[in-house]
Amino acid sequence: MTKRIARSLAMIAALLIAVSGVFIGSKATYAASYCQVTYTVTNQWAGGFGANITVQNTSSTAWTNWNLAFQFPASGQSVTQGWNGTFTQSGQNVTVASMSWNGSVAANASVTPGFNGSWTGSNPIPTSFTVNGNACNGSTTPTPTPTATHTPTTTPTPGTTPTPGTTPTVTPTSTPVTPTPTPAPGTHVDNPYAGAMGYVNPAWSAEAKADGGSAIANISTGVWLDRIATIAPTDGTMGLRDHLNAALTQANGAPLTIEFVIYDLPNRDCSALASNGELLIANSGLSKYETQYIDPIAAIMSDPKYSSLRIVNVIEPDSLPNLITNLSKPLCAEAQSTGAYVQGVQYALNKLHAIPNVYNYVDAGHSGWLGWDTNFQPAVNLWASTIKGTTAGFNSVDGFISDTANYTPVQEPYLPNPNLTVGGSQIRSANFFQWNPYLDEQSYDTALYSALVAAGFPSNIGMLIDTSRDGWGGTARPTGVSTSTDLNTYVDQSRIDKRPSRGDWCNQSGAGLGIRPVANPAPHFDAYVWIKPPGESDGSSSLIANNQGKGFDRMCDPTYGGNSLNNNMPSGALANAPLSGAWFSAQFHQLMQNAYPPLP
Ligand code: BGC
Repeated sequence: MTKRIARSLAMIAALLIAVSGVFIGSKATYAASYCQVTYTVTNQWAGGFGANITVQNTSSTAWTNWNLAFQFPASGQSVTQGWNGTFTQSGQNVTVASMSWNGSVAANASVTPGFNGSWTGSNPIPTSFTVNGNACNGSTTPTPTPTATHTPTTTPTPGTTPTPGTTPTVTPTSTPVTPTPTPAPGTHVDNPYAGAMGYVNPAWSAEAKADGGSAIANISTGVWLDRIATIAPTDGTMGLRDHLNAALTQANGAPLTIEFVIYDLPNRDCSALASNGELLIANSGLSKYETQYIDPIAAIMSDPKYSSLRIVNVIEPDSLPNLITNLSKPLCAEAQSTGAYVQGVQYALNKLHAIPNVYNYVDAGHSGWLGWDTNFQPAVNLWASTIKGTTAGFNSVDGFISDTANYTPVQEPYLPNPNLTVGGSQIRSANFFQWNPYLDEQSYDTALYSALVAAGFPSNIGMLIDTSRDGWGGTARPTGVSTSTDLNTYVDQSRIDKRPSRGDWCNQSGAGLGIRPVANPAPHFDAYVWIKPPGESDGSSSLIANNQGKGFDRMCDPTYGGNSLNNNMPSGALANAPLSGAWFSAQFHQLMQNAYPPLP
C-alpha cells in the first residue's frame, strides 16, 4: 500500500463515521381509506438521497390512473430523477403522475415510484400525501428499522415491454409494510442491499479524492479481482483479505455489503481485446481458473472472521452473453466447444454459493446487446441450463446484473414506448435502436426477471443495474421529447444516450455518472450499484505493453469507424486512454461533469 493510500484510509474511516450508512434510511407510514403511502429514504449521502414511495390503493375500487402529491418540509429538498412515475416539482410541492403502464391499480394493490433527490441543511420526510386529491393522512409513525419493500406490482408479460393501452397483469396484493427486525449478522437475506451500508474501497476512494472527486469518494464501488495476483498481491496493493478486513472496520457491527467482480475465466473477453485476461483454454486455463483463482477466493470468503459481511459477487461479466452473439470469434467458439465458460461459471457458483453470507449475481449483458428476441430467449435458456446444472441448481444465484461497466441508461425518459409510431414507423425501428424492443435497462431487466422466473428461477431473485456511468447528463442532455416528424431525428433528439451506437462500449465520450447506489429502487430490483469504478479506463486507445494479457481494441480508438457489432458507427471513445483498469483522469472529470443526477 502506498503512503498516499494509507493516509486516505484513515481519512475515509473518519468520513464514514460522519456520513450515515449508505443504504440505511428513515421511513414513515400514513394510512387512510383511499390510500396508504410509505415514504422510505433508502440511501443518503452528503447533499443527496434516494427514496422509495409505496402507494397502496386502500379503497374498494380500482384506480385507472393516479396522481400523488406531497410537500417537501425543507426548502433545500428537490427531486433530481424519478422512476415509475412522472415527477414534477414546483417550489416545495411535488406531484407524481402514473406512467402509461402502471396507472391501473386494483384495490389493495400498490405501485412504487421512487426518486433520487438533493438536499441542503436537512432532509426531513414529508408529512402528508394525497392521491387523486384524497388525503392519505394517517398518523406519522417513523419506523425504527429499514424494511425491504419487495412490493407486488404490475408486471409485464415475459418478453414484452409495457406499452400504453395494455393492462399489465396484477400480482397478489400486499399488506401494509411493517417494520421487520434486523436479521442476525451473516444470515442469508433475500436482498443483501436492504438495510445495509456499502463498502467504500479505500484504494479507489483515494484515487477519486486525489483527482478532485471528493464529492463521490465515499460511494461504494466494486472491487475487481481481475487476475490471480489480485487475491493476495505482493506489490503493496490491497488484496481480498485487505478489502474484507477494511469492510469489517467500516461495518463496525452493522450490515454492510461488499462487492467483488469475479473476472478471470480462460479466454476472457473473447470477442474483444481490451480486457483479454491471463488464462487461455488452450493452456489449461480452466483448471488454473478453478484451482488458482476460484479455490483461493472461496477459501478466504469462507473464513468465519468475515461471516457477518454480506459478500456480493458479480459473476464473470460478458462471458455467457458472448456465447449468444459472438461465436464467430475463434476464442468465443473455443469457449463454447470446450464448455469452458459454462463449466467455469458453474464451478465458481458451486464454490461461492456454499458460503452462506455470499450472494451471487450473474452478468446479463445489457439491453443494447441481448434485447432482440433472437438473443433474449436464447440467453435466458443458457443462464437457466448453466445454473440449473450447479449443485444447488437455480438457488445458487441471488439474481442477475445488467449494464456492468457499460453505458446504457436506466431509463430513456423521453422514449418510454418502443412501439410508438413517428413518421409512420415505430421508435424501435430507428437506426439507433435497430428494432430492439428494449430501449433502456429498466424495461430490459423487468422483462428479463419475468422470463427468468418463467424459466425456473425462484421469484425472489433480484436484478441489479450498474449505474456508475450511465447518467448522460450535462449540456447535451435533452430536456424534452422532440417535435420532429422524422423518425431518426425524433429519436436522436429525444434520447439521452448520446453514443454513436449502442454497440459502443469503450470510454464513451459524453457519458456521466449515473444514479448513486440505492437499495430496492423498483419491484424485483435489489439495487442500483456502482460496479465499474468511475475513473478506471475500459481499454487503451493505442497499443500499450503489459503483463496482464490485455490487448488493444480499436473500439477504444476514437478514430475507428466501427464494424458490424456497432453498426459501422464511430467508436465514441475518448482519446489518450490508458490500459483497462488504469486511472483515466480526463474520463473521470467528464463523468463528474456530466453526472445525472448532477453532483451537488
Ligand atoms: C478491466 C479490469 C479492471 C476493470 C475495472 C475492466 O475493463 O479489464 O482490469 O479491473 O475493468 O476497472
